[in-house]
Amino acid sequence: MSLKSYQCGNCGANLSIDLEDLTATCPFCGQKLTFDMEDMAEIMAEREKTKRMQTEQEEATKRHSAQLEHDEKIKKIESDADNFMEGAAAVTNGINTVSRGLGMVKTIVGLIIAGVIGFSLIILLIVILLVLK
Ligand SMILES: [Zn+2]
Repeated sequence: MSLKSYQCGNCGANLSIDLEDLTATCPFCGQKLTFDMEDMAEIMAEREKTKRMQTEQEEATKRHSAQLEHDEKIKKIESDADNFMEGAAAVTNGINTVSRGLGMVKTIVGLIIAGVIGFSLIILLIVILLVLK
């Protein structure tokens, strides 16, 4: 009897093994099998191996999702930093616009004052000329 795989020799279903009396009963067709200690050791080793592989698989999956989560966080921090830099750039732009505006206002006020002074000087000159006549 080959028990490399602990499947029912009759229908191929997985056998439920009774460790107490080293027998197995097929839950589907009711086939009964008896194992010797050597078979049992092989079966148990096989089971352990499968379990270990499953655990390793689960751990790998966990590590992978932790990695993904970590990547998400990094991306979030990076995009927050980008948003901050964009905000800072917008503020800098705003400040530049305001100071350009102030510069223009200063220029206009300067021109008006110069105009008023020039105009007053001309009037004064005319008045002086008129008085001196
Ligand atoms: Zn069966």
